[in-house]
Amino acid sequence: MSLSPDILHAAHLLREGKVVAFPTETVYGLGANALDPMAVARIFELKERPSFDPLIVHIADIREIGRITTSNDHRVQQLAARFWPGPLTIILPKSDLIPDIVTSGLSTVGIRMPANPIARELIREAGCPVAAPSANKFGQLSPTLASHVAKQLPDVDYILDGGQSAVGIESTIISLNDQGFEILRHGVITKEEIEQLIPYYALPVEEKTNIVSPGMLKSHYSPEKPLYIIGSDYTAPADRSRVGLLSYRGDDISGYAQVETLSSTGDLKTCAVNLFAAIHRLEESDVDFIVAEPVPEQGIGIAVMDKLRKAAYRYL
Ligand code: AMP
Ligand code: MG
Repeated sequence: MSLSPDILHAAHLLREGKVVAFPTETVYGLGANALDPMAVARIFELKERPSFDPLIVHIADIREIGRITTSNDHRVQQLAARFWPGPLTIILPKSDLIPDIVTSGLSTVGIRMPANPIARELIREAGCPVAAPSANKFGQLSPTLASHVAKQLPDVDYILDGGQSAVGIESTIISLNDQGFEILRHGVITKEEIEQLIPYYALPVEEKTNIVSPGMLKSHYSPEKPLYIIGSDYTAPADRSRVGLLSYRGDDISGYAQVETLSSTGDLKTCAVNLFAAIHRLEESDVDFIVAEPVPEQGIGIAVMDKLRKAAYRYL
């Protein structure tokens, strides 16, 4: 079967690191190559998403599970055989191929294989897993038509028109534990349907190893070391000999034991890409605590500051 020219074009753009809106059976997605952190950063920028909500990664071939996760859980094959392609997202431990910006710094990644054939042809032709949230501006209605996307996201690189989305509500999200599965977000596929394959088992709160709904929590990506944001209620310390600095542009770094600069040119997208890795490095260094400079709260800078505040929350 030969693919339509618009699918070939959209796939080409994804390979080039561009952001493409595409139809899925739930709603239109705003997709980028999930292995390319700069392309993924552009999703947050276009959506003006105020929080680093982890993105769901879309695949067209079950064998991708072996590349982008470290799971060899046989239950994934069972679930896939029954519910994929379709609106079920499974949370699995991520492999190093998936950049932190996709998962908001979590060690797990949400994966699904969409039922919409145009979506699958696009992903297969692009040759990469595709990270995609809904193709709307934050706080606005989810798009179920290409024209909705065009209205809200005029700057998107391309919109692949696939007519009306069939389902129109979000995928069901589940995680697996030793005893069974747990539902993280209710969707089209019901608990009862999944229970025909795997027992339902909600882990007691104290045994949960993953944050369930990262975007919902005030404290989300919390480093072990205290993190303070320089601002009206916190001034940088005079003695910086045991202090790590998370610097916006690297302007005022004197005296700090260790400095991580987010973007020397002040590019906010680069800040978003570097944020998690920079905090990780400061965590691993032998500083006692971390101070962070604020970045401008515009565009993707809103998401960066939201993330930083979540990291700092416990210490305010
Ligand atoms: P959507 O808004 O449909 O793109 O779905 C994104 C939602 O999926 C997030 O807000 C999370 O609730 C959930 N999600 C994605 N990845 C993960 C993960 N690794 N762990 C837990 N929840 C996740
Ligand atoms: Mg959404």
